[in-house]
Amino acid sequence: GQNTETRGFQAEVKQLLQLMIHSMYSNKEVFARELISNASDALDTLRFEGVKNDALFEGDPELSIWIDFDTDARTVTIGDNGIGMTREQVIDRIGTIAKSGTRTFLDSLSGDEKKDAHLIGQFGVGFYSAFIVADKVTVDTRRGGESTGTRWISDGGGEYTLEDIDKPGHGTTVTLHLREDEDEFLDGYRLRHLVRTYSDHIAFPIKMREELSEEDEKEGKEAAWAQVNRGAPLWTQAKAEISDDDYAEFYKHSCHDYEDPLTWTHNKVEGSQEYTSLLYIPKRAPFDLFDPNGKQHGVKLYVQRVFIMDDADKLMPRYLRFVKGVIDSNDLPLNVSREILQSNRVLDKIRAGSVKKVLGLIESMARDDDEPEKFKTFWKEFGQVFKEGVVEDAENKDKIAKLLRFKTTTDESADPGVGLDDYIARMQPGQEKIYYITADTLAEAKHSPHLEIFKKKDIEVLLLTDRVDEWVMAHLTEYEGKELSSVAKGALDLGEAETEEEKKEQEKLAEESKGLVERIKTALGERVNEVRVTHRLTDSPACLVADEHGMSAHLERILKEAGQ
Ligand code: ADP
Ligand code: MG
Repeated sequence: GQNTETRGFQAEVKQLLQLMIHSMYSNKEVFARELISNASDALDTLRFEGVKNDALFEGDPELSIWIDFDTDARTVTIGDNGIGMTREQVIDRIGTIAKSGTRTFLDSLSGDEKKDAHLIGQFGVGFYSAFIVADKVTVDTRRGGESTGTRWISDGGGEYTLEDIDKPGHGTTVTLHLREDEDEFLDGYRLRHLVRTYSDHIAFPIKMREELSEEDEKEGKEAAWAQVNRGAPLWTQAKAEISDDDYAEFYKHSCHDYEDPLTWTHNKVEGSQEYTSLLYIPKRAPFDLFDPNGKQHGVKLYVQRVFIMDDADKLMPRYLRFVKGVIDSNDLPLNVSREILQSNRVLDKIRAGSVKKVLGLIESMARDDDEPEKFKTFWKEFGQVFKEGVVEDAENKDKIAKLLRFKTTTDESADPGVGLDDYIARMQPGQEKIYYITADTLAEAKHSPHLEIFKKKDIEVLLLTDRVDEWVMAHLTEYEGKELSSVAKGALDLGEAETEEEKKEQEKLAEESKGLVERIKTALGERVNEVRVTHRLTDSPACLVADEHGMSAHLERILKEAGQ
């Protein structure tokens, strides 16, 4: 062929391919979903770029995907007339993994097939799943508007070859040369079934050749192409017509997860704003949830069913960055640019409305006594991130606070723990504040001398040990009219005498200790603001207390560590 070259795969790709081939076998059908999903993405891209540059369509505006097989050659082919790729793009996109976090991904592999399969899904390396069933893959592609096409061939070993080709139609055709035992896929019924199961809601027609009767076959008739999938995007359909399986399948396909979602909310909003949202909460946190450079698929924005962008930041606040799904607006212009989206009132309203829906969804999980496991899972996987909302989302702070769950001195279970409403319901008579303690570890929190008086008085204390807790609590000073108070701060009123006798006792003690207090003050000098006699300790002789309005010792330590 013309302009032929052989190149080696990036080391990471080689590793990935080995993994794919050896550990994904029980999920081998996913190749169909992944390749159809790539074709659909390519059609989306063409439709989007085509709004500004009509030439990309090359006079062929009917966008579709087709699937065919050849029993003699033992191949299955998946084609699209989408945007296609240039030679450089092929090298960049299917010879290398340019995405950040590749290393993290490979490092997080456990060797446990199930877990690793899950990671592959999250990582979005779907193309390579072709090698689960194929021992050779050919990709023919030409970018719309370009004259030369490119052929990529690989056997999934260490190398691939490239050559120039003539390709009349723009777009991409992926041909799978099936492995020895994979003849089951050379079957129209089997393939149609795969399409209906995994890709029914792809927004473009997926076509296959109709089955010929034996007679027609004898006469050498050409089979006609017919659409196999339902075709309309799921979110545009009436809720009553969508089954839970449909929702789950759509989620797995469009949000790149191999597991069913935890829960979802589907809403058509009408009135001054018209949009549809279909938002999911996954069952498991992605491995890069806390990685600031992590690849987050997030929420996709569509305008009148045309894909616009995949940018979670604009549609969901950071503390809901685990939410996935689709928002489809009828109000934004089709040729909307990223710049316009930076500050757009329509989008702001959509975002605010969607946040409400997600909070409502989480609330309903928290209330659901039939399936308490759901909220437990949610809190375990995403609680740490969700907490950030107290700081980030002032408008919904109370709603978020209601959903927070804590370990406490009376309930250390983490799943999901104690809510502030539970806490208030069992406050001691006369107790006015919600008390908490922050520490690096649970053990440290539990054994703090600050807790002694609370134990004595049977007052529950929230035990906070997450890194973000200190920061979150600095913003959560009140809940339902009750002040939240750190046990390590200020002149706790708890030590107050309850009877006249006790009061006298305390006064006497203070009088007697004056000399001692003076001596300690002198010894500690500038290192402390004040030395006081306290009645809040029962076992420990002394403890450090932060100023009411100052930083707590814990926060001070965190800032010091951070070099502040
Ligand atoms: P992802 O789809 O998550 O990006 P994949 O491994 O499935 O990961 O695909 C890698 C990349 O290869 C895609 O992002 C896309 O740029 C390119 N690609 C794959 N299939 C096609 C196709 N049919 N048409 C155009 N580009 C494609
Ligand atoms: Mg893909």
